[in-house]
Amino acid sequence: MTGVLAELRRGPRTTSQLMAATGLSKNAVQCSVRRANRHGHDVANARVCGGHHEALYTLVFDRDNPGVRRCAAPGCGTVLSHSNGTRWCRRHLPGVAFVLYVEQLLDGIGEADEQLELVGGAR
Ligand SMILES: [Zn+2]
Repeated sequence: MTGVLAELRRGPRTTSQLMAATGLSKNAVQCSVRRANRHGHDVANARVCGGHHEALYTLVFDRDNPGVRRCAAPGCGTVLSHSNGTRWCRRHLPGVAFVLYVEQLLDGIGEADEQLELVGGAR
């Protein structure tokens, strides 16, 4: 039986894969992930699209192995180069950048009353 962190060091894992590997309950797996994040690790949590809404965890930053950072995109786990200051690899950064851009746009609209009225008026 291994720990959640040890399992994530081998690559991205879903909740049920972690439960099977560690023998822990779903709740205990989630607690372990939260504990790891509190202790300086960076475990990314992405929802798996599809029938079963399960979390997919990637160990982006391993405190005990600070030289290695991995892509936070669901299921990717590509090791990031030192010159890459983001949490995503070259393949996933453009898609993530677009999502972040749209979220910023929506935030901006939410903050500006005039623009909010425009959105409301368009309905
Ligand atoms: Zn990636």
